[in-house]
Amino acid sequence: MRPQDTSLDRPSPDLTTQLIHHPYRPPEDFAAPQPGVFKASTVFFPSVAAMRSREWKHKTGYTYGLHGTPTSYLLEERLATLEGGLQTLLVPSGLSAIALVGLSLLAQGDEVLLPDNVYGPSKALAEGELKTWGITHQFYDPMDPQDLARRITDRTRVVWLEAAGSVTLEFPDLPELLRICRASPQVTVALDNTWGAGLAFNAFDIAPGLGVDLTAHALTKYPSGGGDVLMGSVVTRDEALHLRLKNTHMRLGLGVGMNDVEAVLRGLPSIVLRYAAHDRAARRLAHWCLDRTEFSQVLHPALPDAPGHAHWKTLCGGAADAAGSGPGLPGQAAGLFSVMFDARYTGVQVDAFCDALQLFKLGYSWGGPVSLVVPYDLNAMRERWPAHLKPGTLVRFSVGLEAVEDLQADLAQALGRLS
Ligand SMILES: *Cc1c(COP(=O)(O)O)cnc(C)c1O
Repeated sequence: MRPQDTSLDRPSPDLTTQLIHHPYRPPEDFAAPQPGVFKASTVFFPSVAAMRSREWKHKTGYTYGLHGTPTSYLLEERLATLEGGLQTLLVPSGLSAIALVGLSLLAQGDEVLLPDNVYGPSKALAEGELKTWGITHQFYDPMDPQDLARRITDRTRVVWLEAAGSVTLEFPDLPELLRICRASPQVTVALDNTWGAGLAFNAFDIAPGLGVDLTAHALTKYPSGGGDVLMGSVVTRDEALHLRLKNTHMRLGLGVGMNDVEAVLRGLPSIVLRYAAHDRAARRLAHWCLDRTEFSQVLHPALPDAPGHAHWKTLCGGAADAAGSGPGLPGQAAGLFSVMFDARYTGVQVDAFCDALQLFKLGYSWGGPVSLVVPYDLNAMRERWPAHLKPGTLVRFSVGLEAVEDLQADLAQALGRLS
């Protein structure tokens, strides 16, 4: 019996059990599972000698609030468990996780390669600060591995992957993209893991002996689950790479608030349930949309006609009937889907559809309880119109936790306004 420690003698293979019974040592004689919220800038040292010898890099002690408290150390460890890595850095947003990777690993003369469907602000960083500092970039077609292969040179230092892609939700052939990157040892492979959330697939074990070097994750989305926190993480499995990122993290002074850390710690035990619930609801609505004549395409990687469906099926368990999100739902996916309005509808009509929705609120982000909708201007977002997309206006839905029947009725009433 270890009344002071919540960890298990026999670790469970189940992620939820692991996250609930994760090692945590509460203060003496206070054996509660909820972790304490420790906030500090100053940390006292017992002596000058301790002040001089205690180091911040390896988490062997506490030195200053910016380098972590027991609360942030705990979240870092649980996120490493979630994503299958070993080390974690916490940053103030998902976007700052992406920026930290670029600032740590790229120098003047280097090049970074981004998929053309990458999270939009990641493009803006490459076109803004990185360019100003003499770091070049190229966008590759994530659905054509040979296009990536053609663009890698001696100057390529970082290749970003994203699965599924932002807004258009294509699912790339991650094993093939990784194999191509591995032919160039100077390349660090970074994955934006926000969509998969550490649940849909294991980024560090994409195929036997094949995994990414690091993941960036917008904890703002599923790990928080409340729509009330902005935070990001960078998870690694290699100590040397972690320390490179950590040095830059320290010099940039990136810190997170412990009340926000507490909120994410509270969200983690239910992340598997919530992810599955968002997934189930999104797939039901996506299927319903397939039958509506207003849409020329419905984009969700679990739909058989979706770009990259076969890759999703292989990687996210869609090939098996077991281990899915629920009865009849093989595989796992985030609660997002997009529709392409038929080209006969004008942009003004599509805007009016979005305005007419009542439960789906107009707003950015996802992973919280409220369903959200955003119309996108794809022409302004992509280098070229993706060959697999029909012409039209794209609208993305982020499905929350409301009753699916209510959400479906909301879509139906707003579509009714179109004619
Ligand atoms: C939301 C999001 C981010 C950025 O997260 P923030 O916390 O909002 O900065 C990065 N990547 C993806 C794929 C996202 O969806």
